[in-house]
Amino acid sequence: MSEKLKYERPIITKITAGVTDKFGMQSKMPIITAIDNIPVEKLIKDYGSPSFILSEKTIKKTFNDAKRAFTTRYPNVQFAWSYKTNYMNAVCRIFHKEGSWAEVVSGFEYDKALRNGVAGNKIIFNGPDKSKEDLIKATENGSYIHIDHFDELYDLLSIAETTEKRPKVAIRVNMDTGIYPQWDRFGFNYENGEAWNALNRILISKKLDLVGLHTHIGTYMMTPTPYAVAASKLAELAVRLDRKFNHKIKYIDMGGGFASKNTLKGAYLPGKDTCPTFDEYAEAISDALINSELDPNEMPTLFLETGRALIDDAGYIIGSVLANKRLANGRRSMIIDTGVNMLFTSFWYEHEIYPAKEFSSHAEDTTIYGPLCMNIDVIRSAVKFPLLQKGDHYVIKRIGAYNMTQWMQFITLRPKIVLIDTEGNTHIIRENETNESMTALEKVPNYLN
Ligand SMILES: *Cc1c(COP(=O)(O)O)cnc(C)c1O
Repeated sequence: MSEKLKYERPIITKITAGVTDKFGMQSKMPIITAIDNIPVEKLIKDYGSPSFILSEKTIKKTFNDAKRAFTTRYPNVQFAWSYKTNYMNAVCRIFHKEGSWAEVVSGFEYDKALRNGVAGNKIIFNGPDKSKEDLIKATENGSYIHIDHFDELYDLLSIAETTEKRPKVAIRVNMDTGIYPQWDRFGFNYENGEAWNALNRILISKKLDLVGLHTHIGTYMMTPTPYAVAASKLAELAVRLDRKFNHKIKYIDMGGGFASKNTLKGAYLPGKDTCPTFDEYAEAISDALINSELDPNEMPTLFLETGRALIDDAGYIIGSVLANKRLANGRRSMIIDTGVNMLFTSFWYEHEIYPAKEFSSHAEDTTIYGPLCMNIDVIRSAVKFPLLQKGDHYVIKRIGAYNMTQWMQFITLRPKIVLIDTEGNTHIIRENETNESMTALEKVPNYLN
């Protein structure tokens, strides 16, 4: 007797092929079959699934766009690569070759910059955590130390008694730029007079070389206006220093924080349509500085510590579909081999994910899960997605910022990172982890052997 077919609950879904959505956008999803002309198929075959891919071409193009936006509007501009955004050595070296200095926020990052061949006097040292040893090293190397709080200022004043060189310092200033919540936990506040007080103490001590003023007003700033406010306030401090002490600072450092084209969760429109361009940020900052009371014959150098906006577009994750299932309510779900452990930014971005080959035009509302045995492992909670099958490949776009530094080793081993150079050659710039590399630092007490 033949077995009775198992009952499956019928599901009714709307066919959306060829129909526009409520914003008038085509619901047919584009596909990404190649990155810098190298087929995704081949990259996965050669380097495994999943893999991180970085495009040097895109890094250089983005950097040169940003540079042009600022250098056409302001006389002297210097970029410093924000290490924490992506400190793969190969990535840092591309930026350094393009002329970027290094911007670091820890002793570890400071040493990494030195090992990447950056001269001490081209390193900007930020952050609230600098040990006395870090401060001595940075002083002797002639690096730019951006003071975060009074305790650090006192440390520097005592260090200056013993070092051969005078510490070269700036203060980090936080201020009301019209963006809330304010990032007032870093640096000295402008409105309550702390910043002015710190500057007075530095100059009256005569022990430190005050060379600059710094701010970093936030990250993923979706409008350029706060930068204009911040630049005006720093310019005003510089003018007051000149008047009271006849002291001219050499640079104004506007930090990072320009938005990348990723879409924030809950945003109504895609980030690529709403985020300001480099030109708009550059216009706001340079106008504020040029129109200030700063001496036009000795305009300070404009430093920029742009991270996210320079590297996000250059990064991709490629990988494979592991399975499809129906959830209890009939909703389609797809499990892929990228989890939140390697795509940290999926906690705040609606990452763009695309099929890597032609598919049927039928798309369905889908939840995309990562491979972790954990409820929070959701890459997209709701996206109209075509029906890929187990083993089919996908590409996640704009993942170059913060994922390769904020990722965590959890449940699975982290994959390879591959760089495609400007000639189209591929290079592994970080090997995939192995059981050996992961447990190399572990020790088992003798009695457990
Ligand atoms: C993180 C950071 C940056 C880079 O910020 P992005 O948002 O990636 O541009 C720059 N400066 C400082 C001090 C930072 O902490």
